[in-house]
Amino acid sequence: MQQPNVDLSTSTPYVCEKCGHDTFHTVFKLRTISAMVSPSGEEMLVPIQAFACAECGHINKEFLPKDLPEDDNNLTLA
Ligand SMILES: [Zn+2]
Repeated sequence: MQQPNVDLSTSTPYVCEKCGHDTFHTVFKLRTISAMVSPSGEEMLVPIQAFACAECGHINKEFLPKDLPEDDNNLTLA
């Protein structure tokens, strides 16, 4: 990951909103887009990159797109 050129003395720790741990892993969620609405006309996988807490695995909400369904159990699959 690229380290932006900023003054870290002005930074504050970013922590897991669930357990307060301060290190994270890069993870991907995968969403399937059904052939009905896919631009290619075929079912496709869309990766969503996020950071998961290294301690508890929680993904802070702000890492996920706002249009991602809150209830993430794939119950809406036709
Ligand atoms: Zn955590």
